[in-house]
This record gives sequence, structure tokens and C-alpha cells, in this order.
Amino acid sequence: MKNIYVFGECMVELRADQELTAAQTDNSKVLKQSFAGDVLNTAIYMKRTFANINTHFLSALGKDKFSDDMRTFFDGEEIQHDLVFSSETKMPGLYAIETDSTGERTFTYWRDNAAAKDVMSFIDDAAIETLAKGDMFFFSGISLAIIHNEDRAQFWLMVEKLQQAGVQIVFDPNYRARLWDTPEQAKEQFEKAFSVSDVALPGVDDFEQLYNIDNAKDLYDFCAPYNVKELIIKNGPATVLSYLDGVCEQFEITPVKNVVDTTSAGDSFNGAYLGARVNGLSIAEAITFGSKAAGFVIQHKGAIVDKAIFNDFVEKELR
Ligand code: ADP
Repeated sequence: MKNIYVFGECMVELRADQELTAAQTDNSKVLKQSFAGDVLNTAIYMKRTFANINTHFLSALGKDKFSDDMRTFFDGEEIQHDLVFSSETKMPGLYAIETDSTGERTFTYWRDNAAAKDVMSFIDDAAIETLAKGDMFFFSGISLAIIHNEDRAQFWLMVEKLQQAGVQIVFDPNYRARLWDTPEQAKEQFEKAFSVSDVALPGVDDFEQLYNIDNAKDLYDFCAPYNVKELIIKNGPATVLSYLDGVCEQFEITPVKNVVDTTSAGDSFNGAYLGARVNGLSIAEAITFGSKAAGFVIQHKGAIVDKAIFNDFVEKELR
């Protein structure tokens, strides 16, 4: 079985339940509590789409009840947490999503002191040895942003060791301005990430704010000097552009009509796409998997669609 390691943060998610909240008479809110985080979402959709892959989460949590519940949640999704470390003093980060009457969403975060930020302090030679036996190491711009500035050198050294051991390095930039000290810092880290990645899955959205790039062709030109072996450029409902072995192709996406929440469009695309590639499917086949999965996910609320509903979709549409 192939072993895929995803590196990053999982947070506690709170979402106001509008119907139940509307029924309250004392100005209180009813909140639904779940768990999510970009790379974890990717791992979950990969595992749900391709059960034959061992997906592992690499992160740090605490020893509190939410951390325990998160581990139980990983078990339910068959995400292995052998490399999810336990901080003695810290807890997971938290975010809340509020949706107003026009559908506009507001995200509020409490993550500055999250255990996941300390993850590099737990990664020793034994952990790197385990990771080096894996087939793929996946990280995002969010994973990079949350680790402490002083830990970045250690992170890049780890990536270098994994690459030397033959692990495929995969990067999705997922730019979140507020997580970085300055845009220049994000650019410097992204450019380092592109230069070491075998596979990159950038979205045009991420590059608009940071680099003023607003179309797939310019993003493709931006990526060219980094010699990424396999490049997949996502652009919402617009064409996906791919590059592999000197061949550049474009793939049409069928836009879905009933979009209710685009929160993990890119994450679910990545999970199904990478799962397909790990299973030896072609770029075209993998993009079909990725775009079908993402198209389904954005027609449902929340980053992670109910498991039974998603599994039913996999059986009917992806098998
Ligand atoms: P990100 O979350 O990284 O910004 P995108 O918005 O670019 O991701 O979307 C990722 C993928 O999700 C797209 O490549 C496409 O396959 C799918 N997708 C996004 N929006 C739509 C849509 N409106 N209709 C159908 N598929 C979509």
C-alpha cells in the first residue's frame, strides 16, 4: 500500500446553524462543531476516493478533549495519526464561520497559539526516517505559514532529506495573507516550495493577491522556471491547465449550478487528483476525478461533506 503524508494543521470548526439559531429567543446561537484544515481535507477526500492508500496526518495537537475527539475523528476517516504529536501545554486552533442573510461568509480565527505551530519541535530523526519511507509528502502554503519563522530552515532540511530518499514532494500554495508577516515573506517561501516540488497544484485565486497574476497562462509562465515535473493549475469553474513531461494540456470543467460553499474546492480536487495519480491513472483521468469530487463538494455546506453522502457519490459517479 502507498503511504501519503500530509503536513499541516487541523482546527476545531464552529458554524452557526441558521435554522436552529433563528428559533432562539434569547439572542443565543446554536453552533455545529466539526474539524477541518486544508491538508487534512485533502487527505480525507483522498482516502474516501481511494481506500487503497494509507493516508497519514503529520501535525501536533494537545492533550485536551478536543484533541482526543479529533483523533477519534481521524480514526473514523481512516486517517493515520502515528505522526500527530501531543503538546503538553498547547491545544488545537479554532475558527468560526458565520453566514449573513446574503450568503456572505465571515471567518474568525483563534490559532496564534495552536499546538500545530510547534510541530517542527517534535520532528526528530526517527520521524524523518518514517516519512522517508513514504511515497508522497504533501504540504501547503498554510502549512508553511503556520510554523514558526525560526523553524523554517529545519522544515526545508527535512524536505530535502525526503526528496533525497525518493519521496514525491507535493505543494499547493493556498495563500492566506493574514498568516504571513509580509507578502514578501510568503513569496520567498512559495518560491522555495516551487523549487523543491515534484508536483504543484496552484490555484489562480492565490496568485491574484500576491503576484497580480489573474489567469492560468500567466501562472503557468510564472511556474516554468522552477522545473516542477507535474503542474496542475486550478481556476474555479474555468479550464484546468496541466503540464507533464513537456506536454501542456487544457481540460474543460463542467460548471455546477447549485454552488453552496466553495470552502474546500481545491482541497477535495487535490485529494481525488493525487489519489488517482498515486494509483497510476493519467493526468486526464485524475483531473476528471478531481473536478468531479470538487464539483460535488461545493454543492454541500462545510469543508467535509457527510461521509455517507460522499461515499454514495463515489460509488455512483467515480467507480
Ligand atoms: P481553490 O479552492 O484552490 O481556490 P478552485 O476554486 O480553483 O480551488 O477550484 C478547484 C477545483 O474545483 C476546480 O479546478 C474545479 O475542478 C472545481 N470547481 C471550482 N468551482 C467550480 C464550479 N463552479 N463548478 C464546477 N467545478 C468547480
